[in-house]
Amino acid sequence: MYVADTKQSRLDPQFIQECVTLPALRSRWRDKGTISAEAESEIAWDTLGRAMRSLPAGLQRWSTKHCVGMCGTGKFKVLWGLETSAACPRCGDFEDHLHVPRCRAASATAEWDRCTAAFSAWLDLQLTGPSIKLAILQLLQGVCTPPSFALRTISSSVWPAFLAQKVIGSQGLLEGRIASSWLPLQQQHYDKIRCRRSVPLWASRLSQQLISIGFYMWEQWNSVQHSDDNVQLRECHSAVNEGIHSQFDMGPDDLPKEIQLMLTCRCRVLRKLLVDKEEWLKLLCQERRDFRRSMKAQRRSLRTIFSPGL
Ligand SMILES: [Zn+2]
Repeated sequence: MYVADTKQSRLDPQFIQECVTLPALRSRWRDKGTISAEAESEIAWDTLGRAMRSLPAGLQRWSTKHCVGMCGTGKFKVLWGLETSAACPRCGDFEDHLHVPRCRAASATAEWDRCTAAFSAWLDLQLTGPSIKLAILQLLQGVCTPPSFALRTISSSVWPAFLAQKVIGSQGLLEGRIASSWLPLQQQHYDKIRCRRSVPLWASRLSQQLISIGFYMWEQWNSVQHSDDNVQLRECHSAVNEGIHSQFDMGPDDLPKEIQLMLTCRCRVLRKLLVDKEEWLKLLCQERRDFRRSMKAQRRSLRTIFSPGL
């Protein structure tokens, strides 16, 4: 429902209404207990609809999948039969969509810190009310750490909005579901500093920024998934290296002459790519097996030839 973005669909009042009210998704969220009735009444749905329509199509699709948790994380890869383990490639813990921004691996927390620092700078650039900024940043921090808010630092003027956002939850915040109570507060701030910027636009961009943080965390996860930092890959490297060491330790004696040359430099083999090391190891194991088998067969036939009485 979010992803269609043709000119016709944007002009269609029915489509716009569906984008704003998101009946199917809201009903699913209600059924699954993702969003309580209390939280539902606090969310600025029109802001979320506007934010989603403003996002690039790829990010709309990503957000739609991640909001319902059906995406290529370990949990679903196991369910789809693509993997046998649901372990996170960064830390090795069980992984579903909620784990991605909460992973405690060093590379994940560094990316989280980078994203939240950029978000803080963005809030300043948009002339966000200081009390609003502080409250939102504290709520966002609740994604990664259990909420231990320094309540006295939250201004009483933003307290109702803070509580409304707390009802929506930190995951809801990260998915761009902001409380409608922030909008009049930001309007008051703009009025106070005589700023004529649009508050609905501020709110829509705020929602987009939050969704982008989740997306950047996903991108970072993705980069590790396909790199040598992947926990499972590291385990594969370790197992293959062990196999390579034993091949070198066994020596070249029970290998054909042409294959013995492959055992000249251990370091050079260990430096190869994983896929090349696996090929190397497979070939060595096979050649050693074949050579031993053939030697055994030769010995047997020699015994038959020279055995007295035959
Ligand atoms: Zn992890």
